[in-house]
Amino acid sequence: MSTFALSCATCRTPAAVSDSYLYRCPSCGGVLEINYDLGSIPPFTRAELSSMVPGGLGRYQRLLPLRADTAFVSLGEGNTPLLTARRVGHEVGADRLLFKAEFCNPTGSFKDRPLSVGVNKAKEMGAQTVITSSSGNAGAAMAAYAAAAGLTAVVVVPEIVPAASVTQIAATGAKVVRTAGDVAAALRLVREASEKLGWINLATTYQSPYPTEGNKTVAYELAVQLGWRTPDWVVVPIGAGPLLAGIYRGFAELKAFGLVDRIPRLAGIQASGCAPIYESFRHGAAAVREWDRVTTMAKGIADPLRGYAEDGTYTLTLIRQSGGTAVAVDDAAILAARDRLRLEEGIFVEPTGAVALAGVLKMMEDGTASPNDEFVLMLTGHGLKGQFPAEPDRPVIEPTLEAMGKLLAL
Ligand SMILES: *Cc1c(COP(=O)(O)O)cnc(C)c1O
Ligand SMILES: [Zn+2]
Repeated sequence: MSTFALSCATCRTPAAVSDSYLYRCPSCGGVLEINYDLGSIPPFTRAELSSMVPGGLGRYQRLLPLRADTAFVSLGEGNTPLLTARRVGHEVGADRLLFKAEFCNPTGSFKDRPLSVGVNKAKEMGAQTVITSSSGNAGAAMAAYAAAAGLTAVVVVPEIVPAASVTQIAATGAKVVRTAGDVAAALRLVREASEKLGWINLATTYQSPYPTEGNKTVAYELAVQLGWRTPDWVVVPIGAGPLLAGIYRGFAELKAFGLVDRIPRLAGIQASGCAPIYESFRHGAAAVREWDRVTTMAKGIADPLRGYAEDGTYTLTLIRQSGGTAVAVDDAAILAARDRLRLEEGIFVEPTGAVALAGVLKMMEDGTASPNDEFVLMLTGHGLKGQFPAEPDRPVIEPTLEAMGKLLAL
């Protein structure tokens, strides 16, 4: 009956698809993957994917872990523009630099992809209350979709999350709980609440297999936007890495359908103040180890993986399978990339949203990438999310040309 099956990425044990919301492998606790019976699902065709009109991720429903008769609650997520860099690319010697404008999603970040699928799954299962921990964006997305779906949302935010993000989460009616410590500590509370209170945990780490599936729609869109050409690199800021994993899975499906000929190299970019996956990649280690002390301000990727380092190992494995790389960039480089995007390209993203550009600059510098390569950079979160550029005190002037001339030193 179900068009998909679940299996563990670590021990390969299948998990039964039931009427309850599944989290991790029942045998070993590993990350669960969703696999579709591609033989029984009518394949996507180029014509179909190309002609898909706006209308949210529901248009991909037969390749999502939802029942066919579930009416997808959408806010118009996805279908984000693919922009060509005008100045920054040439200046760094990369002529084919493209921006996937994920900040154009309804709540201002790519998290609308995983959370739209997660909330729809929770509703399909008859849930009343959903809960997540969030550095800001997942909470805003879950809150919005929960409101649209008529569910109660509880969002646990670590104290470092900026006021603008907390305001956005609360704006669509979520109950906000601020906690001491980092994202991993908040996630622990979410898991406990989910276990003891029966609320559905929609954390967008690999806590459950469903939200990650929303991320693979990035690949479907890129294939159309690039005319079925696979870019050399897709450059992705990574916390635990579900966005990267989703993009990998999406391209793998397109390849299985014969719509693209290969999976792009995936570059996972971390902040040097919290870079557990990068460290293991750099040392050629098989497994990722949790990070001790987070010192970056790039809040969207500041995940030390405490208590779930194997999730990082899963992401690392996919990076390697794609022939890709992991890169770490410091906060100064991230802020410089943010400023270049807003001042040279007119694109205003939050610091974490600029991490991919900082990563490409590093890859050009150290020779990991070639000037002839084609890059797609995931610009993941809108600048209005918080952590704004410094704003001077602005005097109020008389509304005259003379006074304006003086102010602007014309
Ligand atoms: C969540 C987030 C990321 C990291 O994505 P993961 O799938 O958690 O690795 C990157 N950028 C922004 C703006 C985010 O909100
Ligand atoms: Zn297992």
